[in-house]
Amino acid sequence: MNFYSKIIDILYPPRCAYCDKVILPTDSCCDDCKNSIKRDFIMKNIFVKYKAIKCVSIFEYDGIVRESIIKFKFRDRKPYAKQFGIELAELINKYYNYVSFDIMTCIPITFKKRLARGYNQSYEILKETRNLVKIPCKELLYKNRNTLDQHKLSAKARTENVKGAFSVKSSEDVKGKAILLFDDIITTGNTMKEACLTLLNAGAKELYCATLARAEYCYG
Ligand SMILES: [Zn+2]
Repeated sequence: MNFYSKIIDILYPPRCAYCDKVILPTDSCCDDCKNSIKRDFIMKNIFVKYKAIKCVSIFEYDGIVRESIIKFKFRDRKPYAKQFGIELAELINKYYNYVSFDIMTCIPITFKKRLARGYNQSYEILKETRNLVKIPCKELLYKNRNTLDQHKLSAKARTENVKGAFSVKSSEDVKGKAILLFDDIITTGNTMKEACLTLLNAGAKELYCATLARAEYCYG
């Protein structure tokens, strides 16, 4: 560790990705949170073009995990990506160890959101995971237009809202590939489904999904 990174650690000490407590520079989460936070590994299928695509979520979107994701996305806690990257690597090793992935990718955000936040939060997590699982990552999709917040819409409007919202950047990167599609939260599943459809239409050979958290959305 050089002099400047020592100064940075004093000014902005590393914090636990869950409880925000100051931790050692080598850690990304405190021991209490490492042991006490429940990893649920909720498994669901996303049905696209008569295919059942497996989707595994590490946590329920609730309590300390929910607060942590909100801070990560909206309150400048980019370093939390390190811990989330470790969690995602564990998911892959546990649930997808039989798959030879060519590439990992994520749900894109709009240009406007990227400008405001400066980065796609899901891609920051993938960058941490790639070193742990030795699978490359790339942003394969882009968002064509702005969409409304899914949870504010009716079931029918949700499907319409995301319809045709994504395109692939380069079909060469998708065609014939085994892909892991990642997002931070899955709520209604419509966004994930639309992204799966876009990748399948572009010729993805195998497709699997993973998210940090699953929010139980109350219909009606
Ligand atoms: Zn903690």
